[in-house]
Amino acid sequence: MSLNVNSKLPHVGTTIFTVMSALAAEHGAINLSQGFPDYDGPAALKDRVKHHLDAGHNQYPPMAGILPLREAIRDKVADFYDARVSAETEVTVTPGATEAIFCAVTAVCRPGDEVIMFDPAYDCYEPAVTLCGARAVRLALAAPDYRIDWQRVVAAISPRTRMIMVNTPHNPTGMVMSADDMRELERLAARHDLIVCSDEVYEHLVFDGVRHESVLRYPALAARAFAVFSFGKTYHVTGWKTGYCVAPEVLTRELRRVHQFVTFVGITPIQWALADFMRAQPEHLASLPGFYQRKRDLFVGALAGSRFRLKPSAGTFFQMVDYSAISDLPDQEFARWLTSEKGVAAIPTSVFHAEDPGERSVRFCFCKEDETLRRAGAVLTAL
Ligand code: PMP
Ligand code: GLN
Repeated sequence: MSLNVNSKLPHVGTTIFTVMSALAAEHGAINLSQGFPDYDGPAALKDRVKHHLDAGHNQYPPMAGILPLREAIRDKVADFYDARVSAETEVTVTPGATEAIFCAVTAVCRPGDEVIMFDPAYDCYEPAVTLCGARAVRLALAAPDYRIDWQRVVAAISPRTRMIMVNTPHNPTGMVMSADDMRELERLAARHDLIVCSDEVYEHLVFDGVRHESVLRYPALAARAFAVFSFGKTYHVTGWKTGYCVAPEVLTRELRRVHQFVTFVGITPIQWALADFMRAQPEHLASLPGFYQRKRDLFVGALAGSRFRLKPSAGTFFQMVDYSAISDLPDQEFARWLTSEKGVAAIPTSVFHAEDPGERSVRFCFCKEDETLRRAGAVLTAL
């Protein structure tokens, strides 16, 4: 008997991040593909997890997350973005930013709705929209700057447009949205009554003295936005899968209606540990731009003599490079070749597009030990 499953996501395979990390492991390659550090989170943070495991914080936390963590988040967004939010009604702790994005989209999108997003787009956005029976309207960010073309956004807005998704700093291009971008977003969202989903998981990874433009800085924008963050990036613990969503009460209520039936909660001892660490070491956050800017500069420097063409990343821990002087292979084949034959793994950037733009570019991740970046740089410079 053959079962007719009739897939709801027929075009979705295993994510490129899992595929490339597996290929890197198979070939013993230096893994600059999937975005995770090869160093550990702060020892004091791990100690707090051990403490809370032993202290018996091992049962379900409240559905929205433990209050001390939500209060630490409330204080943090006040410090950084001058945003006054309620820990009780406007902050929700989630098992990663991915879950928050899924719940945000699912909470508000219906069949027939349209969601505007920008290519290259992080891979979890469109499937969430599709599963709602809604349609992703994907607008291109054009090389070399990958800025949002607001004229094209205006032209793409229709009576069906329900949501606009933005991501700043932007994975994979490293683009960061400006204050002008945010004002334009605020104006359009208000005029067309749109909900905004703002993926800000790289909020602390913005370089060259530029400030992160969170939607939370703009009250009229924050009033219609889900702002999504991830502790995984900020504390070098991607495997802990803990993040949060800040949204006005009317949106948070809807988000939680979904969240409580998708995962219900995140992991308890990790929430306690993060709450303690945020209070004990607030300076960790301010150290991140410098920490990652130095790594970016080291990596860019290590590629200076190579045939890759690159524009230093303005944010995130990713560097996109053009390899057209090295190879004519399409990017997926090039990434495989680089991993299996040369021993450095990268992410092909076409996977972030609805339609392959034919760019000869891959993404390297530089949240790696200096030594790892130097070793990779030596291999890449010899190509
Ligand atoms: N958004 C972007 C742009 C990302 O790069 C990632 C990567 N991890 C996520 C969301 C998901 O974050 P989390 O691991 O907290 O689910
Ligand atoms: N966000 C990470 C990246 O872009 C990967 C996360 C994942 O593997 N799902 O590399």
